[in-house]
Amino acid sequence: MTPPRLYKTEAIVLRQRKLGEADRILTLHTPAHGKLDAKAKGVRKTTSRMSGHLQPLNRCMVQLARGRTMEVIAGCETLESFQRLRDDLDRLSRALYVAELADRFLPEGVESVATYRLLLETLRRLQSDADQDIVLRYYEMRLLDLSGFRPELARCLGCDQPLQPQQNFFAPAAGGTYCSSCGAGAAGSRTLSLNGLKVLRLLQRASYKETGRLSMPPALAQEVERHLRSYIVYMLERDVNAAAFVERLRREQQPLEV
Ligand SMILES: [Zn+2]
Repeated sequence: MTPPRLYKTEAIVLRQRKLGEADRILTLHTPAHGKLDAKAKGVRKTTSRMSGHLQPLNRCMVQLARGRTMEVIAGCETLESFQRLRDDLDRLSRALYVAELADRFLPEGVESVATYRLLLETLRRLQSDADQDIVLRYYEMRLLDLSGFRPELARCLGCDQPLQPQQNFFAPAAGGTYCSSCGAGAAGSRTLSLNGLKVLRLLQRASYKETGRLSMPPALAQEVERHLRSYIVYMLERDVNAAAFVERLRREQQPLEV
């Protein structure tokens, strides 16, 4: 359905970039219209009343006018500013990572209430005292799932047999797991411990409430992070526009413990 010429929607600001002398283009995630770009006119002028409402991560109510090439923001009002995220650099960098991942994985203009809710809940969790690692891993796995990049974690992608409860392999290029015999020589495959597999499976099928009870020793948390990150990097590498982001993720990757 084509939205009317002027419409209101709730949105979370994923990112912003400069346009011309005084304008910005904002990438918004809305529930009903998915991800979209919108022009904010004059927001870089000191007199702009809108600029404060359009910071990245803000949840706001925006009024959008259909433009010829992209929507134009006609008005906006902050609903939630996530101040606690902005006051703490670690939290802020995690939250920006979460927003950027949504930007990279979501197609434009496709209704997506589920990813909107996931993004909003994740930002709220990052503000709370919840285990930040688990919040991020849960978000990554759910986002992959909802955006059509769900990794295989039940069977071996080589011989199609169910995985045995032992050390197996994880291979991003193949799209998930290999058994202990198929994975040994497979390109880009890395060992996956039994506990690592259990945590990845839990993240894939359990609710956040259930995963929130997890308590991972640091080595296991690192292993799970590494596998998920390498999978995300692999999926994004096929997108040339994600190159700089991929580079940053690579640099941030924890070295593998042996
Ligand atoms: Zn196999």
